[in-house]
Amino acid sequence: MKITKLTTYHAAPRWLFLKIETDAGIAGWGEPVIEGRSRTVEAAVHELGGYLAGKDPARINDLWQTLYRGGFYRGGPILMSAIAGIDQALWDIKGKTLGVPVYQLLGGLVRDRMKTYRWVGGDRPAELVEQIRGYRALGFDTFKFNGTEEMRLVDSPRAVDAALAKVAAVREAFGDSVDFGVDFHGRVGAPMARVLLRELEPFKPLFVEEPVLPEQAEYYPRLAETSAIPLAAGERMYSRFDFKRVLAAGGLSILQPDLSHAGGITECMKIAAMAEAHDVALAPHCPLGPVALAACLQVDFASHNAMLQEQSIGIHYNQGADLLDYVLNKDDFACDNGHIRALPGPGLGVEIDEARLQHAHLNPPDWRNPVWRHADGSVAEW
Ligand SMILES: [Mg+2]
Repeated sequence: MKITKLTTYHAAPRWLFLKIETDAGIAGWGEPVIEGRSRTVEAAVHELGGYLAGKDPARINDLWQTLYRGGFYRGGPILMSAIAGIDQALWDIKGKTLGVPVYQLLGGLVRDRMKTYRWVGGDRPAELVEQIRGYRALGFDTFKFNGTEEMRLVDSPRAVDAALAKVAAVREAFGDSVDFGVDFHGRVGAPMARVLLRELEPFKPLFVEEPVLPEQAEYYPRLAETSAIPLAAGERMYSRFDFKRVLAAGGLSILQPDLSHAGGITECMKIAAMAEAHDVALAPHCPLGPVALAACLQVDFASHNAMLQEQSIGIHYNQGADLLDYVLNKDDFACDNGHIRALPGPGLGVEIDEARLQHAHLNPPDWRNPVWRHADGSVAEW
């Protein structure tokens, strides 16, 4: 079998899909994207496509190493997201060729169902209690929301109190019947992270995510020493070489590699194994589309330390389309009491509505995250 063609489709809300075709008539799908830089990743995909033309898609390990090592320069969000989407599509082709789900090729199921959670509250956390109440009625008991809005490197107790009030309201409304992660989203610097973690501790969040930016990762072990709240990070780390540094330094309890940013299934299975060896849980990042989620689930169902799966149904970013709009086998993604079952179909288990994607590609939005500013006019982390 030979790879014959790579086609990319932009689609609302902010996604990029990749279709890899073969001379055997079997095609695989991937989602190579960095949110807000989809055109840049697309260019990288087609540039890397030169290494794929005419090659046997079954040799995923060799193709991955060629894409990673073959160009001398490596790593980072653009190149690793391009490799990620290509890798997903190659696994999809392999599974479809052999007629089995990818998790079978990874050694088979380690669990019967995977716990998922819902995002609530949006960019500027609001209406948390109302939204959680709505999702509770659908059977979800685990949630995530942003912990703060703009926060200065050293900020007023008023900013801390505003953040705490939202968390307190959730605990007051639901007691211990819900779990929630609080995402600092890299908005908080090390000085305020120390304060917030201490103040949040009585509310027992399941985890705090990106307590500081990943480029300040040396603070993860220091913050972990001051707080019993499990710390999570990883959506802005792109390979096992990035993750090995944070695992060696310690401090994180949960790794959150993104299957569309960190080299795909091939790389994230290795990252999952590295985490397991450090008693660190896995919770793949996935505010993206259905192929990315399907790839996450393949890893979750083959990784003992996978604890929680993010998914984007109803997420505040999904303007213009939602998770399953381009999916034909929607029923396979059904959530039962917050859990999803292993996708039964061959390959990644997602059947893409290509006609709908072609239509979406005609007029996709050019999504960018907002650029926030502090009250003094300086740029703030979003
Ligand atoms: Mg996050």
